[in-house]
Amino acid sequence: MSTDKSVAPSGARPPASWGLGGGQAIPWEYAPAPESRDIVQIREHYGLFIDGRERESSDGGTFATVDPSTEQQLATVSKATTADVDRAVAAARRAQRRVWGPMPGRERAKYVFRIARIMAERARELAVLETLDSGKPIKESRDVDIPLAAAHFWYYAGWADKLEYAFPGRVARPLGVAAQIIPWNFPLLMLSWKIAPALAAGNTVVLKPASTTPLSALLFADICRQADLPPGVVNIVPGPGDIGMALVSHPDVNKVAFTGSTEIGKKIQRAVAGTDKVLTLELGGKAANIVFEDAALDQAVEGIVNGIYFNQGEVCCAGSRLLVQESVADELVARLKDRLATLRVGDPMDKNTDVGAINNRAQLEKITELVASGVAEGAELYQPACQLPERGYFFRPTLFTNVAQSHRIAKEEIFGPVLSVLTFRTPDEAVEKANNTEYGLSAGIWTEKASKVFAMVSAMKAGVIWANTFNRFDPVSPFGGYKESGFGREGGMHGLHAYVRLEDR
Ligand code: NDP
Repeated sequence: MSTDKSVAPSGARPPASWGLGGGQAIPWEYAPAPESRDIVQIREHYGLFIDGRERESSDGGTFATVDPSTEQQLATVSKATTADVDRAVAAARRAQRRVWGPMPGRERAKYVFRIARIMAERARELAVLETLDSGKPIKESRDVDIPLAAAHFWYYAGWADKLEYAFPGRVARPLGVAAQIIPWNFPLLMLSWKIAPALAAGNTVVLKPASTTPLSALLFADICRQADLPPGVVNIVPGPGDIGMALVSHPDVNKVAFTGSTEIGKKIQRAVAGTDKVLTLELGGKAANIVFEDAALDQAVEGIVNGIYFNQGEVCCAGSRLLVQESVADELVARLKDRLATLRVGDPMDKNTDVGAINNRAQLEKITELVASGVAEGAELYQPACQLPERGYFFRPTLFTNVAQSHRIAKEEIFGPVLSVLTFRTPDEAVEKANNTEYGLSAGIWTEKASKVFAMVSAMKAGVIWANTFNRFDPVSPFGGYKESGFGREGGMHGLHAYVRLEDR
């Protein structure tokens, strides 16, 4: 059995449920299983993608993107200027008017299908690039982000030639040029949520990726070229926030779609107010994951872990508030702590890693500050004794008990691997606590009684509510929020609706 050498370097202790006896260290360690970096050729420099061509920014400006797990530079990227935004919008307008808008839906469908197929063919390359640029574990980009991103193109390709049947009695016309701004937590997936329905409906797009994760969007530009997409249909303009603002404020844009923080969402809403631009905002969240005493607890533990530690908790719909019925609270928290001790935190490129790197330094500082506020306000902190890499932006999976609803960790979006546990006695109390937030994006309910699920769902204000599961996504299913979580839906028919103007037949 255990020699010192075979003991996990983290000194991890096995959960009591493993029956290995008190205090013994886990007698084995995973062998490293690094994914190969060689699958993707990262260039030293990437330009903007405008009118089907790669070009430098008008003033020659660039910025660097780094691997958050090592803090090493991956590449430099051209930084778009307002002149570049003008050029991109003009290219998108030309392409929409002359080529993409007039093109029959069945022809557009072929391009969108082709993009989906190439994404599937280049999935491993995309996954590795996404992990290097964002810090998310390779098993997540490989098994979730990239397949789902391709699935959105497959799904919306299917609608491109069926628009006349999509909205009975109405004619669906494209809106025109769409300005799209995406965040860094699911870079390629958010791109797909936005570009796939826009193209299927006959719009052209100008997309600004987040500054910390521009690379998968630029690889997507290469995929557009490979798919022979007509020039100007997709344009990609990496750059800072003010370039995002120049883009959404551009007078020749018809549709604005934004995913990111509530603060920036409000600024964008103000910027488009008084224009006829169609706006969808997908903003923050503070989801309640509600566990009743009749739930299958082990299954719930997996759902809670998936809900808040998936993608380091950098998920707008993360189940960051656990509401557990008082009668099972101690038992559930004990099992949760056991499970946390088995999470593997570290190199995102290792196939065994569960929790990778936080995307950027500012985000790490925000998480650190909010966790400190939780301790200062009197909540009880638990973190497993895992060893973090010496370099890179890492944060331990964290669980707070003894949390009051007034604590900042119970109210504010942390966007990190931090769970706040609160308790309730009755379903009414659970509803009241779940709804006691300025957000309204998602929620989870764990119970064996479907009647309880239906009763809860009708009383809760959240755009997506999962029952006995969490963080399940499908291109067919609409996603979006209420209140400070924004408005409009992405995915499914609703997502298509956001990119068309309906006229009477
Ligand atoms: P932001 O909302 O600032 O960033 C999202 C996107 O908006 C990025 O592409 C960003 O560009 C762009 N942007 C920034 N400022 C402007 C502006 N004035 N006008 C137009 N576009 C702009 O999020 P942060 O990255 O700053 O993260 C802060 C917090 O936001 C997180 O801690 C988290 O709570 C929340 N968040 C929520 C997300 C969600 O999915 N709902 C996603 C990301 C963050 P650039 O990258 O160049 O700044």
